Amino acid sequence: METETITAISTPVGEGAISIVRLSGEEAIPVTARLFQGESLLDAASHTIHYGKIIDPHTHEVAEEVMVTIMRAPKTFTREDIVEINCHGGMVAVNRVLEIVLEQGIRIAEPGEFTKRAFLHGRIDLSQAEAVMDLIRSKTDKAMSVALKQMDGRLSELIGRLRQELLETVAHVEVNIDYPEYDDVEEMSHDMMRVKTKDVHGEIEHLLEVAKQGKILREGLSTAIIGRPNVGKSSLMNTLVQENKAIVTEVPGTTRDIIEEYVNVRGVPLRLVDTAGIRETEDIVEKIGVDRSRQVLGESDLILFVLSYNEELTDEDRKLFEAVQGMDYIVIINKTDLEQKLDLEEVNQLAEGKPVITASLIKEEGVDELESAIAETFFAGDIDTGDMTYVSNIRHIQLLKQAKQALEDAMGSLEMEMPLDIVQIDVTRTWEFLGEIIGDTASDSLIDQLFSQFCLGK
Ligand code: GDP
Ligand code: ZN
Repeated sequence: METETITAISTPVGEGAISIVRLSGEEAIPVTARLFQGESLLDAASHTIHYGKIIDPHTHEVAEEVMVTIMRAPKTFTREDIVEINCHGGMVAVNRVLEIVLEQGIRIAEPGEFTKRAFLHGRIDLSQAEAVMDLIRSKTDKAMSVALKQMDGRLSELIGRLRQELLETVAHVEVNIDYPEYDDVEEMSHDMMRVKTKDVHGEIEHLLEVAKQGKILREGLSTAIIGRPNVGKSSLMNTLVQENKAIVTEVPGTTRDIIEEYVNVRGVPLRLVDTAGIRETEDIVEKIGVDRSRQVLGESDLILFVLSYNEELTDEDRKLFEAVQGMDYIVIINKTDLEQKLDLEEVNQLAEGKPVITASLIKEEGVDELESAIAETFFAGDIDTGDMTYVSNIRHIQLLKQAKQALEDAMGSLEMEMPLDIVQIDVTRTWEFLGEIIGDTASDSLIDQLFSQFCLGK
């Protein structure tokens, strides 16, 4: 166990009114008590807050007016004593307090070290530790609730169950091989093995499917707005931005993190992207041709394709339909307040079953329908994070894919009627890959690498 007391500023640099110097370890309370002018902190009860001043021991000057939170082990995030010194005087003051704390022989924390300690002390498992990191980075309320769920251990629970199933299968085969004389243990058959592996395979596939949504929730749906000049692309962008306020989220128990502006449509964060420098894509096909347009647009998760109700379809429009073929797109026929010149039948034909929404942005009509269509395109209706277990972490997704591959190898061997002791080698590999997600078989170096990615002070 590491006992050295560590400290760091646990608020993003340059942000907000309050910054926190956090200390964790045996020395956290005595050191703060020495520097603190106010009531005695040495025997302060756990989870109490104290107003006072931090005094520079060299100059005896007041360094900062503070609120100090005392949290005693083991009911803390790291399971060590934790002190949080809340400073309100901006970065200069908080840096000064940190310097004074460091002069007391407290070591600066490595990035992610607080969370690493929580992991090492058995407070959280690896996937939960990573969820903390995702939490800090999450961009919308829904993404945050996904991260919170994961911290609750939902994913760990599911992975644990799948591993148990695999382990039982492997154990069963082992018993059959090592103790052939045990007649009362039913012989594991290829059929039984097929059922088990198919089961687990299905669950892993499902996890990978929702992983895509998890990624979108975290990073935003990169969205391109395309259409000929003057059809209403800027109007659409403005409407979306005005209707859906930017999200600023505060996460209880972690550092406050201000989220950049995102357009959150019914829980789907849209990132109105600057696709290869073309945010509002006018004349894209004219300028770079259909093939190159397909390439550029293919980098978007969603395309909003705007047409004018008041204009006939042009060859350029038809080329745009060609360029977005097979992608996720929604057609918006704007300016329904004007006279109809557009051939709706042709549009519907070209749209190959994708949603076609009519709207008058100037009259604020059709916006609801568009937002529903956006949500449906990705979540088959409004999503409810309540009953979904998301995998929203790249490392988890990688491991799930590896587990799936190993399991498919096992299933292939089963198809070829290979002996079960051969099949179980791949089943064991599957079990190991899944274990790495929750940190069960993770090597030390992996753990170090993971925690070094954390932001400082978490
Ligand atoms: P963009 O060139 O595609 O970005 O189109 P803009 O959003 O700049 O809009 C072009 C013009 O169409 C502007 O004068 C808008 O006010 C107007 N416009 C946008 N939406 C509507 C609409 O629903 N009805 C009408 N009549 N005009 C609209
Ligand atoms: Zn425009």
